[in-house]
Amino acid sequence: METKLAIPIAAPDLNSAQEQIKKALRAEAEIIELRIDYLEQLNVNAVETLISKAKSLRNSGIPTIVTCRDKKQGGAIDHPFSLRIDVLAAAVEAGADFIDLEFDNYIKLDKDNSLLSALKKKTKPRLILSAHDFEGKFPDLEKLHRQILNAYPNAVPKLVYTAKHINDCFDAFDLLRGTKQDSIIFCMGQAGLISRILAKKLGSLVTFASIDEKTATAPGQLTAEQFKKTFRFDGIKPNTELFGIISSPVAHSASPVIHNAWFQQSNLNKLYLPLLVAGGKKEFNLFLQNILGRAYLGFKGFSVTIPHKQNALDFVIETKGFIENLAGKIGASNTLLINRDNSLSAYNTDCPAALDAITSALKIKKEGLRNLNVAVIGAGGVARAIVAGFSDLKANIKIYNRTIEKAEKLAAEFDCSYAGLDDLNDLDAKLLVNCTSVGMYPNTNSTPVPKEYLKKEMVVFDTVYNPPKTLLLKQAEKTGAKTIDGLSMFVNQAAAQFKLFTDTDGNAELMRKTVIEYLTKR
Ligand code: NAP
Repeated sequence: METKLAIPIAAPDLNSAQEQIKKALRAEAEIIELRIDYLEQLNVNAVETLISKAKSLRNSGIPTIVTCRDKKQGGAIDHPFSLRIDVLAAAVEAGADFIDLEFDNYIKLDKDNSLLSALKKKTKPRLILSAHDFEGKFPDLEKLHRQILNAYPNAVPKLVYTAKHINDCFDAFDLLRGTKQDSIIFCMGQAGLISRILAKKLGSLVTFASIDEKTATAPGQLTAEQFKKTFRFDGIKPNTELFGIISSPVAHSASPVIHNAWFQQSNLNKLYLPLLVAGGKKEFNLFLQNILGRAYLGFKGFSVTIPHKQNALDFVIETKGFIENLAGKIGASNTLLINRDNSLSAYNTDCPAALDAITSALKIKKEGLRNLNVAVIGAGGVARAIVAGFSDLKANIKIYNRTIEKAEKLAAEFDCSYAGLDDLNDLDAKLLVNCTSVGMYPNTNSTPVPKEYLKKEMVVFDTVYNPPKTLLLKQAEKTGAKTIDGLSMFVNQAAAQFKLFTDTDGNAELMRKTVIEYLTKR
C-alpha cells in the first residue's frame, strides 16, 4: 500500500471533532486518526458516533485509525485502562480500519480481554502496536520491531522516537528500508522533520500531518499544506531524487519552497529538503558519511550555508573529490554534488551570482570591473566570495569590517587594503557592496554605512535580499546613487544550483517571480 497522509483529530467533544474531520478532509487527508483520548466524555457510544460520522462525510468513507493513547506515551487525558480497552473494542465493531494500542499495554492484556476477542472475530481492523520515546532513541530499534512482530505477527509496528540531531534519523531509514512488514517508523522533533517526509519514499504505512500549526499533536509535525504544497507529497516515489539545504538554523530558509517550486514547474522527480545539521565540522562530516553510506536514499546534491560552507569544502578536500577552481580560491563551497562513483564535487555559486548581478545591472562586461575602486563592507562568507571574484578581475578592493582583525586577514589573503567601520569617512569607492547582515529582516531600520558617506556617483549593491529594498538602498537612491538589490544575486545563485542539480536551465523570469512571491508572502 502506498504511504497515506494521516491527519489526527484531537478534540474534546463530538461537535468539535466533527468540525476537525471536515477540515481534515478539505486538507486532503487520506486517513483520519481519531485520537479519542482527547474526548472529555469518553464512552462506547461516543466512539461509535465518531466513526460513523467520519465514514459518512465522504462517499467512499475515509479510512480511520482509532487511537486512545496512554498519557505515559503522549495521551491527552488519563482515562482508566479498562475503559480505553473497551472503547477500542467498540471501535473494532464500529468498522475502524486500524486500532492503535501501545505495545507496553498490549503485553499486559489478558488473553480473553474485550479488544483481542473483538479483533479475533473480524478480519478488517489491523492492530497497530506502537511505542514512543520522547527523550531520544530507543536502545535497540530493530529488536523492538522484531519483538512486536513476534508477539502479534499481523501487527503494524509503529515506532516513533525523538531525534536530537538529524544524524539520529538514519536508524529509522534503515529499518523502514529493510523491513518487508507494513510499519510506521519516523522521528519527532525539528531534527526529525525529514523522516516524516521520507516516510513516503521509504514506504511507511502512514505519515502524520496536522490540519494547521495550532492543532499539531506531536513535536515537529508538518501541516498538511506544507506536505502537499512545499514538499510535493503526492509526487514522492521510491525513486525520487533528493536534494536539500544543509544549514543551522534552517527553518526560515526560502530554498525548499523555491527549489521545490522549480522542480514542480519543470516536472522533475526530485525533492528538496531542509536539512538541519546542528553543530560543527564533526556533525557535518558524520551527516555526509551517513548520506554517502546509503545510496538507497537517493541524495544527489546539496546547497550549503551558514555555518557549513567551509566544512563542505574541507570534506571534499579530505575525501579527494572535485573542487571547482573558484570554490578552492574562496575557501568555501555553497553547492555539493554527489557523483555516480559516490565522490563529491564542490562549487561556489555565490561569487558568479554577485558578479552577474552587478554587471547586468550596470550593463558592462566583467572586464569593466578592472581597476574599479570597490568598497566591500563585511568580512564573512559572502564578503570572501565577492572579494575573491573582484580580486580575480583585478579590481582595487578595500574591506571594511566591524571586527578589524577579520578584515585584515581577508585583505592579506587577497592582497587588498582594509579598515574598520569607524574609518568609513575615507570612503572613496565607485562601487560599494554590503556583505554584512545589517539591514536584514527583522532589523530593517539599520544600515552598515551612515547616509552621509554615500555619494551620487556611487553604485551601491546590497547582498541582503530580505527585504529587497534595504535602508542602505533607500538612502543611496535618495542621494542619487545607482542601486542593485540582493534579490538578483539570490536568484542567480539558486538558478546556478538548479542548473548543477538538474543539468537544465530553469526559466529565469519564472524563477525570479517565485522568489519575489515567496518573500512578499512572508
Ligand atoms: P557571516 O559569514 O556570518 O558574516 C557576517 C558579516 O556581517 C561579518 O562581516 C560581520 O562582522 C558582519 N556583521 C554582522 N552583524 C553586524 C553588525 N551588527 N554590525 C556590523 N557588522 C555586522 O555571514 P555571510 O554568510 O557572509 O552572510 C552575510 C549576509 O549576506 C547575510 O546576512 C545575507 O543577508 C547576505 N547573503 C545574500 C545572499 C544572496 O544571494 N543575495 C546569499 C548569502 C548571503 P564581524 O566579522 O565583525 O562579525
